[in-house]
Amino acid sequence: MATGESRQPERPWGPAEVREVLRKRGLRYSRPRRVILGYLSEQDRHVSAEGLYLALRQRGDDLSLSTVYLNLRVLAEAGLVREFDGANGEALYDSNPSEHYHVVCPETGEVRDVTLPWVNGQPLASFLKEYVERETGWEIDEPHVSLTGRAPAARADGVD
Ligand SMILES: [Zn+2]
Repeated sequence: MATGESRQPERPWGPAEVREVLRKRGLRYSRPRRVILGYLSEQDRHVSAEGLYLALRQRGDDLSLSTVYLNLRVLAEAGLVREFDGANGEALYDSNPSEHYHVVCPETGEVRDVTLPWVNGQPLASFLKEYVERETGWEIDEPHVSLTGRAPAARADGVD
């Protein structure tokens, strides 16, 4: 019944952990993967493949766009980065491995992290899954919570 989900650390992965996770999947900790994870782990960032490609180019890490795309997918499949939908439905990537939700502003594209709410002593997603299973008798997949909203208009500018 339990899904084979691995426990994830509450912080970005260390090099040894990354190497181990990739090795188990028969993957190398290649230079593009080091560059991408290095950039993403400097702080919690939410970037698209194209945004990441441009940012890396700007600081002299010349990976091709297709290399960035490909390796982000690999890292997401390995659970080393999280993939979620941005404002226009484009995939965004996040180095924060801990379970959390995102609120996305459809107008500015701004993304805000939200810690997991708990309901009746369990994370919202498990609560929701079990609730719907009880209601319907169906076996429900892991719920994906998608939130959009607008930030309080506190800032004068700074958003393109
Ligand atoms: Zn995030």
